Amino acid sequence: MPQFVEVALPVPMRQNFSYRVNDNDSALIAIGVRVKVPFGRQQLIGLVTGISDSCDLPPTQIKSVLEVLDPEPLLNESLYKLTLWAARYYFCSVGQMLSQALPVALRKGAQLTTPSTRFWSLTGKGSSADLDTLKRAPAQRKVMQQLREGELTQEEFDALGLSKTALKALQEREWVGFKDRENSLDLGWRDTLTLGEEPHRLNAEQAIAVATLTQQSGYHCTLLEGITGSGKTEVYLALLETVLKQGKQALILVPEIGLTPQTISRFKYRFNVQIAVIHSGLTDNQRLNAWRQARCGEAAIIIGTRSALFTPMRYPGLIILDEEHDSSFKQQEGVGYHARDLAVMRGHLEQIPVLLGSATPSLETLQNALSGRYHHLSLGERAGAGQKVRQGIVDIRNQPLRHGLSQPLLNEMRMHLDAGNQVLLFLNRRGFAPALLCHECGHLHECDRCDAFFTVHQSLGEIRCHHCGNQYAIPKQCHQCGSTMLMGQGVGTEQLAQALSKEFPKYPVVRIDRDTTSRKGALEDHLNAIHKGEYKILVGTQMLAKGHHFPDVTLVGLLDVDGALFSADFRAPERFGQLYTQVSGRAGRASKAGTVLLQTHQSDNPILRELMHKGYGEFARGQLEERRQALLPPAWHMLLLRAEAHNPQDADDFLGQVAAILPQNKACEVIGPMPAPMDRKAGKYRRQLMFQTQERSQLQQAFEAALPQIEALPLAKKCRWSLDRDPQDLL
Ligand code: ADP
Ligand code: ZN
Ligand code: ZN
Repeated sequence: MPQFVEVALPVPMRQNFSYRVNDNDSALIAIGVRVKVPFGRQQLIGLVTGISDSCDLPPTQIKSVLEVLDPEPLLNESLYKLTLWAARYYFCSVGQMLSQALPVALRKGAQLTTPSTRFWSLTGKGSSADLDTLKRAPAQRKVMQQLREGELTQEEFDALGLSKTALKALQEREWVGFKDRENSLDLGWRDTLTLGEEPHRLNAEQAIAVATLTQQSGYHCTLLEGITGSGKTEVYLALLETVLKQGKQALILVPEIGLTPQTISRFKYRFNVQIAVIHSGLTDNQRLNAWRQARCGEAAIIIGTRSALFTPMRYPGLIILDEEHDSSFKQQEGVGYHARDLAVMRGHLEQIPVLLGSATPSLETLQNALSGRYHHLSLGERAGAGQKVRQGIVDIRNQPLRHGLSQPLLNEMRMHLDAGNQVLLFLNRRGFAPALLCHECGHLHECDRCDAFFTVHQSLGEIRCHHCGNQYAIPKQCHQCGSTMLMGQGVGTEQLAQALSKEFPKYPVVRIDRDTTSRKGALEDHLNAIHKGEYKILVGTQMLAKGHHFPDVTLVGLLDVDGALFSADFRAPERFGQLYTQVSGRAGRASKAGTVLLQTHQSDNPILRELMHKGYGEFARGQLEERRQALLPPAWHMLLLRAEAHNPQDADDFLGQVAAILPQNKACEVIGPMPAPMDRKAGKYRRQLMFQTQERSQLQQAFEAALPQIEALPLAKKCRWSLDRDPQDLL
């Protein structure tokens, strides 16, 4: 009997595709194995999602599977179900969701398991060879020099960036050869777990949290709400010990910026086990390797950023999301999935506990904790020797500012610096100045492709648009009036750092932002130098606000936060609350008392007042009530449709037609079409439409019903449009 399969392919069409299976392949076919299939003129790799004896397509139209790539399904049943669920929830194709879930190397056809490892070494002939004869072949010479120091696995060879052609040439000369050695699985950690360090004695709150968490089995979701420095990581470590001792693995997800060697080393010091680290900086091969180690159970702990969520575990035991409020857990491009929401779903499907930790929980998670859907544990005291922070506002109305700095802040800085401490200044604007102003006519130079001002980068001699990458040499004359009196308007981190070096010549300044850390390893180098005390003044953007421990920082200054209080985004107050609390948490972490000073023109702003007087916890609960009254998430559920086109009318008309298709009643609301907060970006006009419902299921049903009609609209082909479920960012 002929056999047919449904295959999920990495194409944007929201459907699977049917293929015939040739008789000699049919024994290999199973749901979840990869197959290579013809698609148009290409060959694509996809995953089998269904098997049947019949097919609706006429026999002449159906093509055959070219090759079955796996001896067994790639993902276990729970993970496979998770991707199906996510595809449905985020309204994308299963193939697209699988593309998120699988390492690139597997999508390109790499083998699922490597039964053996290839080792390259010198042959007898190679050992006695004269390297001087390779003067004209430097690449071969390099390979020979490396191999003289010892054998290399294929992976090490690739990681060193050595030339494959050179290797081939040397192999032909019979100077090098390889041996394949069989891999054996090392699962020793499951029998005997040894600790690399003595854990801290837990304080009472920590002990209660750990006792509660270790009693959980099966699915539970818990919010661990603990102020910065209250010892959340210590709780994770204690919980991990129990999980690992049961022979189970743990997956730990951290924000993009939090995955530093500092973080990883805390887990490495504590447990003598294999840890797989998964992040976007890995090569395809390294990533596949980490994935394999997790899948076969060799890696006891898997630490990674957003996409590590999909890493399979042979012995699933626990999922932890640290800094669960962090916006990097939401993917912004392509499929806009949220790793936190999917982690909770994964916990359900795999029947394991999920722990969400934060000093500043997202309102979504807080609501679930307060309503009793999640368990709720709190840590309210600083662990160890940490101390409380003193907070102050500097009202800068009518005050002279020097490069953005007020006199009271400068005075306070001097005191802390002279006492031998470090000072951290937070300014969320990189570059020298956020705009270029003509002193004669007042013209502000705007990007020709976006509704945004150019940022001045003085050291680069350039003006740059931070939204589309457009860049020019700093103009000598005003584009409007020709005057040469051009000056930077406002202050960015580059200017601030420069001014501070002049103001405090004795105290070295370091600047941490995307410009100074673009080189690989640069952030690490800077952080190490900060820890050694080589810098006394730390200037930085968001990058400095998160997760780092700076024991010698006693003063934190926040410079230009007024903009954050007035954003069009309904999440702006929540974001500001998190940022303020996180940045403040950098002060006084160890034995020294900390001070936080905030410069603002809005010293009476109620958001600010509430935050400072009541703290994030109460502030967030108030925000939750406001969202409820405004029918906004997390009370209501939101889907954002974005459309962009060279002709704004196309985008408007398209979304207008979509709006007409969607239901509108007491429980379903349609808002728009309207211009996006940044109306024009990279030369295209951007419009958006919001669809909001009272219940999550209403959104699912209504939009699933509307989608085929939307896709059939002729204008759907004229605009670039995308869907963002539970949007985190309305830009
Ligand atoms: P968080 O993750 O909540 O910011 P950490 O777990 O990093 O907090 O703890 C903050 C500091 O306090 C760390 O230096 C940690 O080693 C220390 N610490 C945590 N728990 C204890 C404890 N029970 N006794 C002593 N020191 C502790
Ligand atoms: Zn001018
Ligand atoms: Zn631009």
